Amino acid sequence: MVSIKVRVENKDNRLGGRNTGISVGSHSFKTPHRTATNKDYHAASSLPHTVTIENPISEYISDFNNQSLQAFLTSNGSFRRRRSNSLNQSIDMMRYSPIMSTIQFPKDNRVHKDDLMLFDLFQNNPQFSIISIPPFKYGGITEFEQAIGKYSEKALSRGQEAMPVLSMSGDLDIFKREFEVLTNLRDSDLCKVIGFSYANPFSYPQQMMEIYRHRDEGIWYHCFGIPRTPRGRGATPVAHIHELQNWGLDTFSPRVTNLGTKQIRYLIMKSQSTKPEDLECRRFDSPTLGILKEPDWRTRYGHDLHCKCLICKGKDLQSFKEEYSHELNGNFNPNLLRYADKVHELGSGSEEFGISKEAIKSDDLPTYFQSKEFTKDRIMPPSSPVKVSKTFLDF
Ligand SMILES: [Zn+2]
Repeated sequence: MVSIKVRVENKDNRLGGRNTGISVGSHSFKTPHRTATNKDYHAASSLPHTVTIENPISEYISDFNNQSLQAFLTSNGSFRRRRSNSLNQSIDMMRYSPIMSTIQFPKDNRVHKDDLMLFDLFQNNPQFSIISIPPFKYGGITEFEQAIGKYSEKALSRGQEAMPVLSMSGDLDIFKREFEVLTNLRDSDLCKVIGFSYANPFSYPQQMMEIYRHRDEGIWYHCFGIPRTPRGRGATPVAHIHELQNWGLDTFSPRVTNLGTKQIRYLIMKSQSTKPEDLECRRFDSPTLGILKEPDWRTRYGHDLHCKCLICKGKDLQSFKEEYSHELNGNFNPNLLRYADKVHELGSGSEEFGISKEAIKSDDLPTYFQSKEFTKDRIMPPSSPVKVSKTFLDF
């Protein structure tokens, strides 16, 4: 039996962020934090040496595009079976920590209320502690409340908790109304976690403000589908996932995209023609929050990896690349380096959340963001809820 408990530790915090203690059954962790996704597990398991991910919370993300959503909802049983098979394989690797199942939808898409049943069936796996309720169409707000309650009760009866998903990029009034319903359902234990499907905070500031306004609620706020955003003169991709904690969100996961057959074929072809001397890293850089190309990395740090994560520890750039571009039998495999970059990003990024956690604890998240090259002067953490709505909305 899984039961979620959420304790907000700093309700009087004035400068953004919040620390919560979350327990899922017998597991517990502190926030802000990032989840380890099925893609992270896949990357770790693909490396030549055994790398064990020890993240306190895992997330299986089912990414749907319009076409695959249609295939899932219509009578295409083989498609649903294929999905279930790949899900079971991933779960096997992830089962040592509580797993949340997240349904990622095309922007602002909603399914018919009756289709929720299919998602309930799909997620009816005892290894999942938390299952999603994807956005759905409904008549009045009471219908919304009843449907969420029913889905949630069913999940609870199986020992799972339900996570309703709210889209941040939809209509503001609808967002507010749905959010209000979910906070009310908290009182009857039917909603302890909300999944927010990512939208750019600069395009949807009021949705972010709404989350900020609700940050003393004992509800876990999870944000998923977070992309990297280009920043600065060289359009360096930035780990945007670290910026959203400002609004009182608790856990985060990067955007996961399932590649189409064409893209996979292209990547395989590209990797076959890659020579060892042309292979380059792309590293998450915790001091700046950027994802640096190898030449940029060398300019800044030379061969130093300045990282003690599971796979970087004791290595320099050269030995890292050497180890993670060859299979155990010595065969060159350029794809391994992508996986290694990914596992480093998870390890280093999780550690980074540990640092910002302390900054939130001392109510000084602004200084934290100022110290990072790519978030400097960009994030304007609120000094008080009232003042925030003014400064931020004028932006
Ligand atoms: Zn590392």
